[in-house]
Amino acid sequence: MRPRQHAFTLIELLVVIAIIGILMAAARPSVVAANDRAKTATCETRLAQIDLALRQYVEDHGRMPGSLNELLQKRYLLNSDIIRCSKTKQELQYRPLAPDGDGEQIVASCVFPQSPRGERPHGQGDAYVLLRLDGETAVARQ
Ligand SMILES: [Zn+2]
Repeated sequence: MRPRQHAFTLIELLVVIAIIGILMAAARPSVVAANDRAKTATCETRLAQIDLALRQYVEDHGRMPGSLNELLQKRYLLNSDIIRCSKTKQELQYRPLAPDGDGEQIVASCVFPQSPRGERPHGQGDAYVLLRLDGETAVARQ
């Protein structure tokens, strides 16, 4: 006698598919949050690279460049992605300041610091990354 072949019933398959769907729905928020943390860290790294390029530029020219594009044109930065927010792909905001000014002043950021919550690119719309004149990068929420 031939052994009986076991196959999954439709109900068993539907239960398995439903369980997988529930697990994926439960995992999605943490995946979204991890993705956002990664993009925020990318912007911090980009702003740190911009800080180094600005310092080299000031060393050579005695003043800040007129725009971040000038850092690309004069080859202080080699990759145009560096001057863009990793989340929005928009060019970073930049303010040329006196190189010896107040270190707390914001030189560059993902969006204008006064942009309202909900319109900021990181932290579900309430955070952005900034670079201060003293070279510190920070994730700002206020
Ligand atoms: Zn950003």
